[in-house]
Amino acid sequence: MDVALYEGETLNITAEISRYSDAEKDRMIDKYRKAAEKKAMICPFCHEELRLRAGEINEIHFAHLKGKSCQGAEAYDTYHNQTKRENKKHSVIKEIIYNELKGQELIRPDLKVEYGYKEKAEEKWKHYPDIYLNKNGREFAVSVITNVHEIGDEKIVKTINKRNKYFKEKGLESIWFVEDRELADDFEHRVLHLWEAEYGLAIKTEEDYKWDKLLKELSEEFPGYNITRLFGYRAHGTMNQDVRSLYYVHSIGDEITFSVYRLILDQMQSPFRGFALTEGYRMNISQALIVRDEILLSDKEREDRNRLEFANQVLFQIEALKAEAALRRQANEVRYEEQARDKYFASTVQESLAEVAVTYMTVDIDIVEYVSKLKYLSLSPQEAESLFYYLKVHRSELEDYGLTLTEVKKWVRYALGKINDSKIREWLVEIEAL
Ligand SMILES: [Zn+2]
Repeated sequence: MDVALYEGETLNITAEISRYSDAEKDRMIDKYRKAAEKKAMICPFCHEELRLRAGEINEIHFAHLKGKSCQGAEAYDTYHNQTKRENKKHSVIKEIIYNELKGQELIRPDLKVEYGYKEKAEEKWKHYPDIYLNKNGREFAVSVITNVHEIGDEKIVKTINKRNKYFKEKGLESIWFVEDRELADDFEHRVLHLWEAEYGLAIKTEEDYKWDKLLKELSEEFPGYNITRLFGYRAHGTMNQDVRSLYYVHSIGDEITFSVYRLILDQMQSPFRGFALTEGYRMNISQALIVRDEILLSDKEREDRNRLEFANQVLFQIEALKAEAALRRQANEVRYEEQARDKYFASTVQESLAEVAVTYMTVDIDIVEYVSKLKYLSLSPQEAESLFYYLKVHRSELEDYGLTLTEVKKWVRYALGKINDSKIREWLVEIEAL
């Protein structure tokens, strides 16, 4: 092990010796060796005395007497070997995350935060997460990963898969933070380009399950449409509708921020990639690392907005496809008819396509306000129409606002009893039929 307690402080001997020139190194090693012989070097874990070893073959290190060791030191060495492949930013980022979470431990009695190798030393694990987190009995393995591509993708893929499997067997859920230099997104093509290793780093959080639900609803509402294809994404093959998220960490000095990307992983073949559901967005550390039932890792309002926007985009694409098909059909029908009629059809379809676009782009409404407009009978015909399209697509989100469809329908029936405007009534009747 490369650390010892010396004069009340942790001394990292590798770092210490590297400060000196080659000529001075031997003298310094000798100095610390003598100090160790006089029992000045103490194991930080078991508090037994340590000796300094600096052979030709082995790297300079501290050892317990006569080949003895202790659980703490063994776990430290295992973890130390495991993180050798990481770059310098790894420990900086890890410490910032640890401190942030540790700070919350004070105010949350059901939260426990500890370095992985310290928490599980007694159990002699083969791999340790950087940080161990226990929230009310639910355990998480939090790990920071850097140099994702450097050791050759294949080797690191195996390492990550092995760790994911190991932590899962131990009952822990894995959370990975990936160093940002690996990020390669192209939202215009709705693509995230990935290293093979990043497949294993994509995790499943509460927000991802909400996205799954939305995709399922859209697929049920519009069977026969392939959602990724609607966005022009060229898939390798069939993709499972299994939304996952990747968390990148950006560090400048001792400040870090996170960004979240939601995606559906494409089939695992080169070039590795995924369908980007949304454009990634950034969060600062206090936003990202709030622990509730799990680490939040997202901006809830932003996610709701993103889902609404995504659903609108899907609707818009489908309507555009339908209108295009109608245009083609009509163009065929009129091929044998008069030129004037051809023009007439084309222009009316263009007009209705424009109308459809307007309808679906304005479906983002303040539902609570609209319901109160219903109660006070102050809804305009356009608002009645927007309300219908909103409920058609987002009825499952009503509970987020403390509402139910039944309740909204109750007010719709009430309004139908009082409003005479035929345009408004038309839409209200539509809502009743939902
Ligand atoms: Zn010890």
